[in-house]
Amino acid sequence: MHETMVAQSLFEVILAESRKQNARPVSAKISCGAFDAVNDEVLSFAFDAIAKDTACEGMKLEIEHKPLKGHCKSCDKIFEFELSSPKCSDCGGDFEILPDEPLLLETVAFESED
Ligand SMILES: [Zn+2]
Repeated sequence: MHETMVAQSLFEVILAESRKQNARPVSAKISCGAFDAVNDEVLSFAFDAIAKDTACEGMKLEIEHKPLKGHCKSCDKIFEFELSSPKCSDCGGDFEILPDEPLLLETVAFESED
């Protein structure tokens, strides 16, 4: 399953970072694109299972879903692409769909000592 693989690699990166900083991670922010989207609940569940009994146990994951973007060939505008109205929001012209956003680990928050 996609989410399990994502959770596993996130876990490894966060755990390595936590060892480097010698601090316990409390939350992480992740972003993903529209095509390569993850299911928030499934990902959190998979992460919880992997993180059990480690420094990452009980961490909160916040997942931001980034919309697809289109590039208008007539007026050169970059706009948020919506399936319900697939055209340029300014001139209604022809457009191309820009590449999907990759799945990214944006930030990890660590517990402070005090
Ligand atoms: Zn346009």
